[in-house]
Amino acid sequence: MLQDTDLENLRSVVHGPLSRPGNPGYAADTAGFNPSAVPRPDAVLGAAGVDDVQNAVRWAAERNIPLGIQATGHGAAAVMDEGLLINTSRLQDLAVDPDAGTATVGAGVRWRSVLGETVLLGLTGPHGSSGTVGVVGYASGGGLPLMGRALGFASDHVQGIEVVTPDGRLRQLEAGGSEDAELFAALRGGKGNFGVITSMTLGLTPFREFYGGGIMYPEDAGPEVLAAFRAWTTQLPSDASASLAFLHLPDVPFLPEELRGTAPVHLRFGLFGSREEGDTLLEPMRRISTPIMDTAGPMDYGAIDSIHMDPEDPVPSLDRGCLLGALPDELTDALTGQVGPGSNTPLMMTEIRLMGGALAMDPPVEDAVSGRDAAFNLYALGLNVPPVADATAAALDRLDDAVGPYTAGALINLRGHIRTEADARPAWDPEVLRRLQAAKAAYDPQNLFRFGPPVPLPVP
Ligand SMILES: Cc1cc2nc3c(=O)[nH]c(=O)nc-3n(C[C@H](O)[C@H](O)[C@H](O)COP(=O)(O)OP(=O)(O)OC[C@H]3O[C@@H](n4cnc5c(N)ncnc54)[C@H](O)[C@@H]3O)c2cc1C
Repeated sequence: MLQDTDLENLRSVVHGPLSRPGNPGYAADTAGFNPSAVPRPDAVLGAAGVDDVQNAVRWAAERNIPLGIQATGHGAAAVMDEGLLINTSRLQDLAVDPDAGTATVGAGVRWRSVLGETVLLGLTGPHGSSGTVGVVGYASGGGLPLMGRALGFASDHVQGIEVVTPDGRLRQLEAGGSEDAELFAALRGGKGNFGVITSMTLGLTPFREFYGGGIMYPEDAGPEVLAAFRAWTTQLPSDASASLAFLHLPDVPFLPEELRGTAPVHLRFGLFGSREEGDTLLEPMRRISTPIMDTAGPMDYGAIDSIHMDPEDPVPSLDRGCLLGALPDELTDALTGQVGPGSNTPLMMTEIRLMGGALAMDPPVEDAVSGRDAAFNLYALGLNVPPVADATAAALDRLDDAVGPYTAGALINLRGHIRTEADARPAWDPEVLRRLQAAKAAYDPQNLFRFGPPVPLPVP
């Protein structure tokens, strides 16, 4: 437990707000996107700048106080119930360099802010399905972009990282640089285990036309749509990304009236291409069944969040994800049984996202992302509040059992709630885990950063 005198020492060397449970500001600086997984540290610092981060890390290292990191709270991964949480949401510097084709972002910047500047310049970045996610936390977990098949993983685009390591040093790391190369690799897939990233530079990608949107099918069409999706995705070019989600939508006012309380199947599609190319590619999926809704067409890239329609406001949720090596008949049958028509599953969304294309290529610089050869990513989530919380947990376990034989690792960003080291393990194959552990021993031998999701120190 933190002593008041220790906190006063910290307060004297930082500029941002420092609060304890019950203090004004504590609730706001610990709140995240999942009200059922809020961290409960002994104190939280709203870092006002890089100096605050450095001083807080030095202070914690001297006292052996565990540290957590939070920007937007979209990925509350491991339970934090002690120590100091460093909230980076105030680090909002954002510099787009159109000539270099890069964006340099502070640790608190969200993808939406980046795209707000780059789209006007005809540039995009390797963002995921929702612009509300933080750039740094996402890319530190590898980052599976919405247009991943065209772009590869977000970590492939990271050109530079500024990070405060547990020794309190501010290090400048570069892609391909010889200094701290193992740290540069660990910070792109190993998440917040090695220090606080204060800023990151990512390469941007030019684009001309974009076609995207979603098609919703009625619940009963689930098996037919899944079978068609499987065949159709074998033919898609890498400029196109696609996913299929079995939805079980609650009857809540923020949804369009016609979707409330329904269980549609949602095809999400994006293409760097023209109307003609998009319509041609989507034709086989439009031919089956009768869609309830079809929004696919040429779109303003600024509206890209409308493809997946992720929630914008916090949801108390329990989630889990894994990679799939293939989607054979037995697996489509098992998935349909778990979340298809008549399953009455409590899972609000079960998404099968197509991998492949640039995601299957080797990274330009060594990183800590495993599972590049997977065929699909499966990700499911349900409400984590009484009276459905237990049913959600049980449904996620059943889904795990059903897909178990076909899993091919996991992506750490989309692994879901991580309570133990074992929960995180599928995200790192043995060689990647060995490198992460070596980096942990070299840069954080005290294991100060232990919530992020945990990489164990190597056994001596
Ligand atoms: C609606 C929604 C959509 C999503 N879509 C995608 C998607 O398409 N693709 C995908 O890959 N993921 C996706 N995710 C998962 C998301 O990328 C991860 O949860 C990511 O960690 C969120 O980062 P954050 O900074 O926003 O969240 P936070 O909860 O603030 O941070 C999560 C973790 O990131 C690490 N971290 C954050 N900041 C730093 C820092 N400055 N230095 C070091 N480590 C840091 C820490 O380990 C921290 O615990 C989605 C999540 C949500 C809720």
